[in-house]
Amino acid sequence: MRFDVITLLPGMFAALTEHGVVGRALTRQLWSLQCWNPRDYASDAYRTIDDRPFGGGPGMVMMAEPLQRTIDAVREAQRSLGTGRSNVIYLSPQGQQLTQAMTAGWAAGTGLTLLCGRYEGVDQRLLDASVDSEVSIGDFVVSGGELPAMLLIDAIVRQLPGTLNHQQSVLEDSFVQGLLDHPHYTRPESTTAGVVPPVLLSGHHLDIIRWRREQALAATARKRPDLLRNAQQCRLLSAADIDFLNRSGLGSVLN
Ligand code: SAM
Repeated sequence: MRFDVITLLPGMFAALTEHGVVGRALTRQLWSLQCWNPRDYASDAYRTIDDRPFGGGPGMVMMAEPLQRTIDAVREAQRSLGTGRSNVIYLSPQGQQLTQAMTAGWAAGTGLTLLCGRYEGVDQRLLDASVDSEVSIGDFVVSGGELPAMLLIDAIVRQLPGTLNHQQSVLEDSFVQGLLDHPHYTRPESTTAGVVPPVLLSGHHLDIIRWRREQALAATARKRPDLLRNAQQCRLLSAADIDFLNRSGLGSVLN
């Protein structure tokens, strides 16, 4: 999996490459990252990549031409490496909101080119000509596309086989099967905040599976009833699931 990231602040990506499971996966060559700085493709001695907006108004806009030359250089590198042309995604508050399903689709692919905006954003002509899709991390605005790009890469890389010690944990994550994750407990068995649910200490594997499923259903019903309704529409709930919800007084969430 290869990520080509177009960014004015490549140093920010150390947060991703030097830490945690995603950093370790990079060391083990499960993925690779190449940052491309548009300033290297500017046409003047000042390495200018932004200018004032036509029509007036505050702030600066990233210029189309240095960005287009950067994308052309990414394409050329991909051609010479034989990796094939990856889709160009512009991280943007105006894009389609990022979901687990989108990241799972990309995790099955070979890589992406990510364009990180700064200032007021990017000249629309570049977006129209050279961007395949726009992706948002939510209905709020951050100062640049780097943090959104890192979120996206992290969400993809943790799904790659070999990134996590236990691949099963990816399958049990929230959203993967349409529900939120079940609660987790660890040692000691008893603290001032309470005791561990006895079923988890029982050693009965099937009872534990059923209890975790019920806890996931209950958490989803309480915190994200929209997800539970969607799971029902997608036929992801069994008769036993619906029976549990009704017995727990949570069944009304489905109506
Ligand atoms: N003026 C733009 C607007 O309101 O649509 C926001 C520009 S923002 C200050 C600068 C850059 O941060 C954007 O070009 C984009 O790359 C990134 N960005 C900001 N919020 C984002 C979000 N919610 N999702 C993804 N990228 C975001």
